[in-house]
Amino acid sequence: RTFRESGLPDDVIATCRSFEKPSPIQSQSWPVVLAGRDLIGIAATGSGKTIAFAVPALMHLQKTKKTTTMMSSKTWKKTTPSPTCLVLSPTRELAQQISGVFEEAGAPLGVLTVCVYGGVPKGPQRDMLRKGATVVVATPGRLMDLMEEGACSLQHVDYLVLDEADRMLDLGFEAAIRAIIKTTSSSRQTLMFSATWPQAVGQLASEFLNNPLKITV
Ligand code: AMP
Repeated sequence: RTFRESGLPDDVIATCRSFEKPSPIQSQSWPVVLAGRDLIGIAATGSGKTIAFAVPALMHLQKTKKTTTMMSSKTWKKTTPSPTCLVLSPTRELAQQISGVFEEAGAPLGVLTVCVYGGVPKGPQRDMLRKGATVVVATPGRLMDLMEEGACSLQHVDYLVLDEADRMLDLGFEAAIRAIIKTTSSSRQTLMFSATWPQAVGQLASEFLNNPLKITV
């Protein structure tokens, strides 16, 4: 199957222009996610998993017309930034890669993406969030920090991606992940990607995903 046959709008899949056809994780996950179901993808880096979750995220944002957070210059300082799409990633490097994909694919659609991660000053990330990020790509520790100081609220997050869930647990982010997910919208759609499927990842999935479909590539 080609990208054209996927039935997705050209502007959403423009970022795939240089690829010949969807990768297996993409062609298998798109119909499931676009139908609104939760998804578990057992897939490694290199499978094309970023575009597997980014393209339906952009479709979702188009559909819910939340591509821009309307804030006048008078009120933007008082309003707590509330993204609607959140991607959690284990490392800064991966977060930056994912953010780059969302920026490239989303910017032409008016979607503002902000990437937050530890090891650098918080100020610039706080300022970026205030500009009205629709998509936040984050490492769990720094996102917790920013939430606790009121720099952003996740109550409107209705599309959540847990990327490399096994690695996030290995790095000790379990408590942070749980605390973060609990503040998101209860009506959210949740996608979880993991290269392996240890018991702790399965436990997290059974707690936070709703009747997910599991795809292994
Ligand atoms: P990921 O697994 O998301 O880290 O992607 C791995 C690499 O595959 C990235 O460099 C992508 O640009 C590339 N890629 C993503 N989708 C496709 C596709 N359908 N065909 C060929 N390459 C792709």
